[in-house]
Amino acid sequence: MPKLAVVNPATGKVAATLPADDAKSVAAKYQRARAAQPAWARVRLKERLAVLAHFRELVVRDAERLAEVLTTEVGKPITQARNELKGVLPRIDFFLEETAHALRTERVSGERGGPMEERISHEPLGVVANISAWNYPWFVGSNVFVPALLAGNAVLYKPSEFAALTGAEIARLLYEAGVPQDAFVPLVGGGAVGEALLAQPVDGVFFTGSVATGKKIAAALAGRLVKLQLELGGKDPIYVCEDVDVSQAAAGIADGAFYNTGQSCCSVERVYVHHAAFDRFVEAFVAEVKRFRRGDPREDATYIGPLTRAPQLKVLEAQVKDAVKKGARVLLGGKRGKGPGNWFEPTVLVGVDHTMDVMREESFGPVIGLMAVADDAEAVRLMNDTRYGLTAGVYTRDRTRAEKILAQVRSGSVYWNCCDRVSPRLPWSGVGDSGVGLTLSTYGIETFTRPKAWHLRSA
Ligand code: NAD
Repeated sequence: MPKLAVVNPATGKVAATLPADDAKSVAAKYQRARAAQPAWARVRLKERLAVLAHFRELVVRDAERLAEVLTTEVGKPITQARNELKGVLPRIDFFLEETAHALRTERVSGERGGPMEERISHEPLGVVANISAWNYPWFVGSNVFVPALLAGNAVLYKPSEFAALTGAEIARLLYEAGVPQDAFVPLVGGGAVGEALLAQPVDGVFFTGSVATGKKIAAALAGRLVKLQLELGGKDPIYVCEDVDVSQAAAGIADGAFYNTGQSCCSVERVYVHHAAFDRFVEAFVAEVKRFRRGDPREDATYIGPLTRAPQLKVLEAQVKDAVKKGARVLLGGKRGKGPGNWFEPTVLVGVDHTMDVMREESFGPVIGLMAVADDAEAVRLMNDTRYGLTAGVYTRDRTRAEKILAQVRSGSVYWNCCDRVSPRLPWSGVGDSGVGLTLSTYGIETFTRPKAWHLRSA
């Protein structure tokens, strides 16, 4: 049987070894899920809601242990791991509160029992694959498996190989809460296990991860009539206008860029500053980043941890090298930290432009470029000069100016005086290479269903 080694990114040591899946076990798990799905769909919604409400209670009960597991395998600073566990609760609450209404059968015309009645019901898709990223495994996982299960689907859940222990914890708690073992089936392993899952005749694929993998998944499903959602990367910009309180703006934006060690899909990855505020903003921003405490992710006060994946160190080094070669200046950091473990110094660059990878390609680490712009029009042009479009924001005291700018930005989410923010009540989606489809909001409940049209004529 294949094995998966879980490596602690802060120490480089193996923290656990898990039995992993192979193509044969994936096929068997698919068969189990397929057989179990109709019975799960027949369970009354009220009961499925009660089971997921129990799951929520169990997450609260075990939160500290779950946070420690997350810190061990992902290197997420423990305070931020606790925040992720806390943050998943309002998402579950949203689904518990909204699913019955979102999935109600609607009569859209005619009277009940009248000569011609028309209704829409929401049917589960069937067996869905949930292939997930490691950076926020509780968030990106629960955005899919909670509403998918509530809607009556069976879920084949493949957490990232870098968050496999969290995946096992999620399965343990769902089973304890009362989800049947064959209605939620976790898979253990990396890309090959994901590929084996895609080879099964699933009814939907819900993916969160990189653009490169998303495109491979789209190619693997080409020619198959399967619902596909891809939540991919970003190169999210912020524009700072000259009228802001620079200290306040710098504090919010530095947090948006460096929280989770910069490993968020919606991390701030590029900052444009009106030239009249540029020097003041840069000074405040650097002061803010210098305050971030880097070190052992198990300590409460640690803000910057290791990178979860060692190969990303090379990506960041290459981005800094490319930028410096083309004229950028490193104001802070710029290189690896001392090992063992995957450490990179928080890095701030100025003198950057759009010929540089650091302003074009996702960094997914603690690296940021700050660039002066002449006016709002140039800021909008640069914000849109990207193949991505996940989030974008503006900092200004002037709401009218902010809304005018944000209306012109191609992006799934837009922010005024905030950033790196997700709300369960709003759809989470991307434009361009940031993906197709969405999670969260009531649309993110309906997406796990197929509308069925009822034409009922009384005899
Ligand atoms: P990744 O693409 O390397 O892996 C994601 C998942 O896909 C993992 O479970 C992996 O095992 C699996 N996988 C890899 N190759 C596969 C294949 N050929 N077929 C099927 N499955 C395969 O991404 P990652 O490093 O885990 O995550 C980081 C990326 O995710 C970043 O780009 C980040 O921006 C993005 N992300 C996006 C969102 C969003 O909501 N848009 C949220 C979190 C992360």
